[in-house]
Amino acid sequence: MAQETSREVGPVVLLGPPGAGKGTQAKRIMERYGIPQVSTGDLLRENVDRGTELGLAAKAVMARGQLVSDDEVCEMVRERLVEPDCKRGYILDGFPRTAAQAEWLDRLLEHELFDNSRPTRAWPIVIRLDVDYNQLLLRITGRRSCPTCGRIYNVHLQPPRVDELCDVDGTKLVTRNDDRLEVLQPRLTAYQEQTRPVSDYYQRAGRLISINGDLPMDDVTEQIFRILEDHHA
Ligand code: AMP
Repeated sequence: MAQETSREVGPVVLLGPPGAGKGTQAKRIMERYGIPQVSTGDLLRENVDRGTELGLAAKAVMARGQLVSDDEVCEMVRERLVEPDCKRGYILDGFPRTAAQAEWLDRLLEHELFDNSRPTRAWPIVIRLDVDYNQLLLRITGRRSCPTCGRIYNVHLQPPRVDELCDVDGTKLVTRNDDRLEVLQPRLTAYQEQTRPVSDYYQRAGRLISINGDLPMDDVTEQIFRILEDHHA
């Protein structure tokens, strides 16, 4: 399908536990609508790799499967969203992850990123992917990614053509440090305790759309595209 690069899409927020498929779906939205994926997990990992001050502070927290502080993450997101490629819209993947981050995002959209030339304020379209617990375990423990092109695979559910090598560029696939089984439980606990209230926040505001994330990936993508099309109809 051809990429659309003219229409305003606005902010899209993908919610759901680790392993729900947010990254995969974000990449598909990005390809279809030509808006960037803003993954706070990816941005933090880049900071860790580059050894920035933020990266040094976040590294141990991430390795324990806990959440990096709201202030640090919000500042990083603010810097990213003011970049020109976010003007037509962007997909937030892994953010907001606490109720405080969700409130902060609304304030940012209302006061700082609100473009007066637009007839309506661009509230985010919030889509939550709901996935069965056992599916999540399979998805997280099987997840591998290509360090060169970022493509995501799953050794159980969506293996590469050649064992452990990327189909696109042949790079050896890697397992994320925090996808190890022992880090999984704290990550899922962080989701239950801190990220559930984000869903509640958007639900109360009448802005939450839930999708069955257990469906095959292509069906989930189709539903997301339909939601985005309806929103702009
Ligand atoms: P992810 O790739 O989204 O699973 O994120 C990996 C890790 O980065 C998480 O387990 C957290 O330690 C950290 N992280 C990512 N996004 C956030 C966020 N919005 N707030 C706090 N910590 C985050």
